[in-house]
Formats: sequence, C-alpha cells, structure tokens
Amino acid sequence: MDIQELKETLSKNMDKLPLGCQYCIRGEKLVLFITGLCDENCYYCPISEKRKGKDVIYANERRINSIEECIEECILCGSKGAGITGGNPLLRLERTCKYMKALKERFGPSFHIHLYTTPTYIDEDKLKALKEAGLDEIRIHPTKYFNEYYGEGKEKERKEYVKYLVDTLKLCMKYIKDVVVEIPSIPNYEKEIIYLGEAIERAGVRYLNINQLEYSETNYQSLREMGFVEKNDYTSEILGSEETARKVVEYFRKKGSKLMVHYCPSVLKDGIQMKNRLLKRAENVAKDYEVITEEGLLVRGVVSFRNLRDVKDLLKILEYNQVPYEIDLDKKSIYLNPYILEEIVEMLKERGYRFKFSAYISERYPTVDGLEVERIPLVVERRSLRDIRRGT
Ligand code: SF4
Repeated sequence: MDIQELKETLSKNMDKLPLGCQYCIRGEKLVLFITGLCDENCYYCPISEKRKGKDVIYANERRINSIEECIEECILCGSKGAGITGGNPLLRLERTCKYMKALKERFGPSFHIHLYTTPTYIDEDKLKALKEAGLDEIRIHPTKYFNEYYGEGKEKERKEYVKYLVDTLKLCMKYIKDVVVEIPSIPNYEKEIIYLGEAIERAGVRYLNINQLEYSETNYQSLREMGFVEKNDYTSEILGSEETARKVVEYFRKKGSKLMVHYCPSVLKDGIQMKNRLLKRAENVAKDYEVITEEGLLVRGVVSFRNLRDVKDLLKILEYNQVPYEIDLDKKSIYLNPYILEEIVEMLKERGYRFKFSAYISERYPTVDGLEVERIPLVVERRSLRDIRRGT
C-alpha cells in the first residue's frame, strides 16, 4: 500500500477507528513498554534483543526507571495518551496500574490509555484493577490462534480456542469501555481470520485490527522457518500479508458488517505514526539553531575541533554577526544553524582559509539518544604530517 492510498483511506475512516488508533496516527500516543516479559513465544514476535524477555521499561525510545521520567517524556512528546505494551503488561499488573493511575492523575481523565495483552492471564480481578486504574481500551491478541493452532489439522483446536476467546472478550466488555482484537496478517490465513472475525462480531466486539506481518532482526529466522519470505529488498514486509489483510477487510465491508476491520500496514507505522510523533518531540526539544525536517528529524551544523584556539577565527565571526551557537567542551564541538555554517565555510574556502577544524551537517533523531542518521561533510581539517606526529 502506498502512502497516498493510505492517507485517502484514513481520511475516509479515521473517526471509525478505535480511539487508541486515532491518537496513535496523529502521533499523540506515548508508547509505554512496561516489561519485556512474555511467555507466549510467538514466532513472529518483533521485539528487539535489548527488550525481549527483559524486565525493562521504555517510554518511546527512552529507557526509564520511574513514573517521573515517563511523565517527562509525555510532556516532551506532547502526548495526549499512552499505549501500554510489552511483553505482556499483565505479567507486571501492579506496575502497569501504578503508571496508568499516575498518568491519569497528572494529565487528567481525558488522557487516553490503551493496553495490549493476550487472553492467557485475563480474569475478573485483573480487569477490575485495570478499570480502577483508568484503562480506556483493551487490545486482545489471540496468540494461540496464530501459533499453536496454526496450520492444517488443527481446526477443532482453533474452534475451541475461539469459544474461549469469545468468553474472555465478553468478560473484558463488562469492565473496559472499548475492546479491540488485534492480530497479525498471516499470509493465506484469510479463511481462518474471517472465521475469527465473525465469531467476535457475534459477541459484540466492534473492532478488529490486522497488522501487516514484518520481519525484524529477532523474528527473521523463525519467519523463514515457517516458510514466509520478504516481499522485496527495500522494506521489511512479508510477501502475501497485505493481500490477506485486504481480502479480510473487503469481506467484512461487502457484508455491511458492524465490525470495523482496520488494516495497519507497516507504512502507517513508519511513514505516518512515527513521523508525527517525532515531529511533536522535535518541536519541543529543538535548539534555536536547529532545523526540523518534514520527517521530524533535527539538522544542525557541527564544528569539530581539537583546541579552542583553532576555532578562534570562527568564534569571532559568530560573535560579530550575533549568530546563536553552543559550545560543547567535552565533545570539542560547536553547534549552530546548518545553513549559516555552510555559508561561513564557503566564504572561508573562497578566501583560501587554512582550516584547523572539521565541519559537517548532522541529521539526527529528536529522541533521547539523538541517534545520528546522516552526516554531510563540509570541510575536513587538513593536518600536516608534523601535526599528526606531534599528536596535536
Ligand atoms: S504476545 Fe506479543 S510480546 Fe508476547 S511473544 Fe507474542 S508478539 Fe511477542
């Protein structure tokens, strides 16, 4: 699906999607990874090595250890809600509820919270605790339907599992306002997905989300072993996943079903959700001299020096022209607007200036780690053999 088609579909259907998705697409949801613990062992689990199976907490890309840090990240990202994920948050129920309560207290009852889990640990007591903590939307991932009971000759087990799932969903509906079933789009599994969809529709569930299957560094091998292959060499999409999702969406649309089936392709996550979330953070963290790109990245000019005296001419130019800049003595760098740095370097080059520093344009994420994605060199300091031998 290309981004244009996706934008058109979203503009027609946005208000029919689960509220959690609406916030997420606008980039207004904080992704609160509450624990990496999970015992479902899905072969398509995309969680990264540094999080999988580890009892760690992340607020978006930031590793955190406290509610205060979580709140700070919400403020920096302009979040209006949070999606609690993992791992399985129910394996750390107390922590999950503590964070939920704190977020609701800090940002008010309209701060929308949704939570992903599997049917395995759901019971009445846990649902009561989640409701009491303020959960607005629960998303159930019926893992076993796509793992243990996947494949030929397991129809009986699948049907039994669907009955159990429906009972669990009915229990969820007693306590949580919105109940969503969220599944992966396994290639050629449309018949089974439609069976599942019809059962949850009869149970009164209003939403079914189908995610495009993608490979990651951690699930690539197991997806290959299951016989799935990548669609092309420039995305992480799995061949046939989109086609299956489209067939399911079309089936329920033609039927005039009350079940809202929403297909979430990888381009929606990367090209829209993530971008919108980065833009919000970039607006809040950008320094005066940084430029925000359309993708929500930050661009700045960087001057790298070894001795402060090597940049004294440059500093004079900046001071004289009242150019905003920042010196980081630890990193021996000066940061300033990228366009201004480019102009200054050009001007100095034209005058035959002998550079004793390096300069480049740096493009980086506005996230806490400030990961650099591109570096465009403007000038590379030329050192004489004598300088190198002197170690200066
Ligand atoms: S339930 Fe989710 S977190 Fe757990 S193994 Fe499956 S995909 Fe991974």
